[in-house]
Amino acid sequence: MDSATVRDQCRALGERIVSWRRDLHRIPEIGIDLPETESYVRARLNELGVELQESYDGVGVVALVCGTAAGSGPVLAVRADMDALEITEATGVDYCSTRPGRMHACGHDAHTAIALGAAAFLQQHRGELAGTVKFIFQPGEESMDGARRMLEAGVLEDPHVDGLLGLHIGGIWDELGAGKVGVSHRAIMAAADAFNFSMSATGSHGAYPHQSPDPVLAASAAIVQLHTLVGRTIDPTAAAVITVGRVEGGRARNIIPSEVTARGTVRTLDESVRAHLRERIGQVIAGAAGAHGCGHGYEYFYGAPPVRGDARLCELVRRAAVDVLGEGEVLEIRKPSLGGEDVSLLMEHAPGCYFGLGGSNPERGIHSIHHNPGFRIDEDVLWRGAAVFCAGALRYLAPRQEQS
Ligand SMILES: [Zn+2]
Ligand SMILES: [Zn+2]
Repeated sequence: MDSATVRDQCRALGERIVSWRRDLHRIPEIGIDLPETESYVRARLNELGVELQESYDGVGVVALVCGTAAGSGPVLAVRADMDALEITEATGVDYCSTRPGRMHACGHDAHTAIALGAAAFLQQHRGELAGTVKFIFQPGEESMDGARRMLEAGVLEDPHVDGLLGLHIGGIWDELGAGKVGVSHRAIMAAADAFNFSMSATGSHGAYPHQSPDPVLAASAAIVQLHTLVGRTIDPTAAAVITVGRVEGGRARNIIPSEVTARGTVRTLDESVRAHLRERIGQVIAGAAGAHGCGHGYEYFYGAPPVRGDARLCELVRRAAVDVLGEGEVLEIRKPSLGGEDVSLLMEHAPGCYFGLGGSNPERGIHSIHHNPGFRIDEDVLWRGAAVFCAGALRYLAPRQEQS
């Protein structure tokens, strides 16, 4: 099929994609259990005639578009996340969240609607696919446990997934203007790790500081010192973030408490920087505890790895996107985001291409500030995401291996 046809048909699907997105926007749900969202997605897939799979432990929704060589040809997955955030919406749009304290403030409603649009197109043109497209609708991206749960339930098997596509809309990569598609096989989102630490002492009266080490002072010293690690111990051309976002300890102004606990996040794009910071954070905490005579505890938790695409698949998607949208509409992402995305867990097992779709349109007063009560996207660009999925799938599953 020629790319003008793909473009025109996907553009024609735009209105339906927008109405699906608005329906989902009204009913945001949080975490792993998204009963209303999932039944909405199942209902639309049923209407489209797409075959639902029921064998993944009830986590998420999985559906198959079976082409001519289904069962023997390659399998390409299209993954969309579906979950929302605990934020009270303040956009004032007429399709505003109807659930108090919950909002689609990251654009996952758009991802789900775009994937439904791609399913609509590909189901209709399945005769031109020499293989299978597996749609993975994933909960729990924000809580970072959805991809792991689906992976453990075998989502990349039966049928085995050979390649995986995904996207994020919005303002994550500010070099992407409205409707522009950004592709890169380098790390474009960060590893999102976590750490906890504690400082402990016997505790005493606030007026008798000589009777107990002070865990408040020790924790403060550690936090100040932690912020020197990025600036002073890693290559300045590498990127990393350490944020301590939660500190707890003490109940009264005149008591030196017996314990202070803190929680932080670490974002890195490179495995060696990641390993370095894990070790040095522990050293800083132990050093601050020792200097202040406190005991200490330290735990580090590996989260999802950086989002890094497969060079060959990213080139295929880039070419497909150029064909369907035009040369000037497709850019290389040069400035990574230090946000995390658990699609990377899936991409560790299947070569992937995770691309960006610019959703912010300041000229129209539409600002995609993620996780903000005023988060909005330019809905006119949604069909473009579907067009890239469809053109990518047609290329990946082209008969006679016309892939490269
Ligand atoms: Zn988010
Ligand atoms: Zn997101």
